Amino acid sequence: MPDNPYRHLPGLDALLARPDVLPLVTEFGREPVRDEARDLLDAIRADIRAGETPPNEDEIVVRLQDQARAHLASSLIPVINATGVIVHTNLGRALLSDAAQEAMMAVARGYSNLEYDLPAGKRGSRYVHAEAMLTRLTGAEAALVVNNNAAAVNLALRTLAAGREVIISRSELVEIGGGFRIPDILAQSGATLVEVGTTNRTRLADYENALTENTGLLLKVHQSNYRIIGFTAEVGLKALAGLARRLESPIPVVNDLGSGTLLDTRPYGLAYEPTVQDSINAGADVVTFSGDKLLGGPQAGIIVGRKAIIDQLKRQPLTRAFRVDKTTLAALQATLMAYLRGSATEEIPVWRMISTPSAELAKRARAWADVLAETGARIELTPGGSAVGGGSLPGQTLPTTLLAVASPHPQRLLAALRAGSPPVIARVQENWVVFDPRTVLSEQEPILLDAIRHALKIIND
Ligand SMILES: *Cc1c(COP(=O)(O)O)cnc(C)c1O
Repeated sequence: MPDNPYRHLPGLDALLARPDVLPLVTEFGREPVRDEARDLLDAIRADIRAGETPPNEDEIVVRLQDQARAHLASSLIPVINATGVIVHTNLGRALLSDAAQEAMMAVARGYSNLEYDLPAGKRGSRYVHAEAMLTRLTGAEAALVVNNNAAAVNLALRTLAAGREVIISRSELVEIGGGFRIPDILAQSGATLVEVGTTNRTRLADYENALTENTGLLLKVHQSNYRIIGFTAEVGLKALAGLARRLESPIPVVNDLGSGTLLDTRPYGLAYEPTVQDSINAGADVVTFSGDKLLGGPQAGIIVGRKAIIDQLKRQPLTRAFRVDKTTLAALQATLMAYLRGSATEEIPVWRMISTPSAELAKRARAWADVLAETGARIELTPGGSAVGGGSLPGQTLPTTLLAVASPHPQRLLAALRAGSPPVIARVQENWVVFDPRTVLSEQEPILLDAIRHALKIIND
């Protein structure tokens, strides 16, 4: 009589009682692990029916561990960003400063005065937090913080122009990525889009000719992630603000800055990226920007501008749906305080990365190469460019030194790096996998080098 292939499969309870399965039960809970184990045993029985050799019990445990981790562990985990893209939207955008992390923790662990007026001893407003810092830094009269910049733009358009027309240049009908398209946002807000000018040239007269009684506002959107070069013309904010103010009943000018930096990018060899202060100075009535792009803070949408308009936005019922979390407000305030102290470039990781001298990056890459020499892999140092990212400064790069590891299968090496713990995200240049020190934190360096060693070993075995 042939051996029954199912006979060697462990029972569910026996499997769960194994000492090497207990840690899974402790980490993920008995019921979830039991469900995973049952599914796994069912799958193995199906494989056996299909003619496969039954795995032994140790192999089953390894499969259970992998499957339980894949299904039950937290899917959001830290990674090492060796791409050199500083504000990398797919990798979580801005890293927070130490002060921002501590401020977040402080309001997360305990109660806070989020919506409590301490001197008066009664209900307060969450919208007062960060407002004074934002107005001081930007020169605006008032400020409101919401969940992200997409919400900020939507809120401003809906409040100021629902059922009315919004005039925008054809060169600014951009898609930012992740499906954020300005025409869609406009449609969503209940405003009607009125496009003026051409892709490459728009003049003040184009706006002027499009004005009607039903114009709600003039919108200017930062092109963010692309540039139009060559035979071009655009109308500056100052001219737009002048036009809007000369009208019999003046209308607001809204500027979606996208990244919205508070610091000048030019001292770092980068092109001019308009600052929030410049937009306010030029006469924009409302400026919106992200908290987690060049500002270097938490995910947030920041709206600054005229007090009458900001008050109107605060009263709008939709604001509640876009409202910002207390930990975000805490991190944002701590980030803004670094700007007020004048120490943003030392304290805020995004600016520390932008301002790292290229000689220091070369030194770090050289040290990595020395450590990795013993792997026997072909390693070179090569000049490269780090990108600022976050839909700012397209095509602009900061000079860096890349650690390049030769590989006949660069995609396989990349995949092995991604499968590591922690995962490492790098780039491929021809037959080289390249690592940019600019976006790797110094405390991550030994972990990165271990991960590279490990990945090389996996693909060479
Ligand atoms: C990034 C960006 C947005 C969206 O900002 P989020 O904070 O990601 O919601 C909107 N407009 C412009 C011009 C941008 O660059």
